[in-house]
Amino acid sequence: METGLSFCRRRCYNRNTGQNNAHRLVPGGGIVFIAVKGKSLVFFGVLVCLLLAVGLRAAYPAARSVFSPAEKDGVVYVLDPGHGGEDGGAVSASGERESDVNLAVTLRLDALLRLCGRKTLLTRREDVSIYSPEAETLRQKKASDLKNRAALVNGTPGAVLVSIHQNSLPTVPSVHGAQVFFDRKGMGAALALSVQGALNRSVNAGNEKQEKMIDPSIYLMKSVDCPAILVECGFLSNRDEAARLQTPEHQKTLTAAIAAGILSAEERETAP
Ligand SMILES: [Zn+2]
Repeated sequence: METGLSFCRRRCYNRNTGQNNAHRLVPGGGIVFIAVKGKSLVFFGVLVCLLLAVGLRAAYPAARSVFSPAEKDGVVYVLDPGHGGEDGGAVSASGERESDVNLAVTLRLDALLRLCGRKTLLTRREDVSIYSPEAETLRQKKASDLKNRAALVNGTPGAVLVSIHQNSLPTVPSVHGAQVFFDRKGMGAALALSVQGALNRSVNAGNEKQEKMIDPSIYLMKSVDCPAILVECGFLSNRDEAARLQTPEHQKTLTAAIAAGILSAEERETAP
């Protein structure tokens, strides 16, 4: 899941001199020197944020819109904490279950988006799987759960799906960081770009990742007919990140970044 090039580098790759890692290209224009010290670092940090904000707007693709001005007020963010109940998802070395982290992050994101006046709907609010009564085996329950989540999303007018998961790559435990994926029709591509940018500037600083189209094997993401993103908040297979993901501080930083990315995408697409 390691993607290599950061947002900035990807957008400006053809302008990269390739000669010095201390340089980072900014979409809006010049090169910012990040190898500075003390107060200069603070100053340059602010400058980088400003340039990124301007550059992101300039570089933002005019591709498919997630929101139109008429639709903005009708948008319902369907927040989906992945897994739940008997399906714990990935598990860290010290036994933390992905489903629990997903729920904690999603409940915080729900509170934040509601505070900002957005409409939300959650696929689950507790440690449960939402399978139908006829499902018996774990496999049937998982399939039924995902089918019911997809039906909930597709039955919600104005839905924009935000699915929350945690990643795991035990064979390469050094891999860490948050990454955003979008639906295979590309309807959520602009939203993913915005959320990935916000995550890169916060929890991924120095370890920037690039948003990607979701793998076709992910049932929920390929079964919904609305803009959809899936946020892998971090790697439970990385010991340090697994510990951070349990903390309210890190969860707040994550949700603030995700919410900021969502609101920025709204603003860009609905600006006159
Ligand atoms: Zn998962």
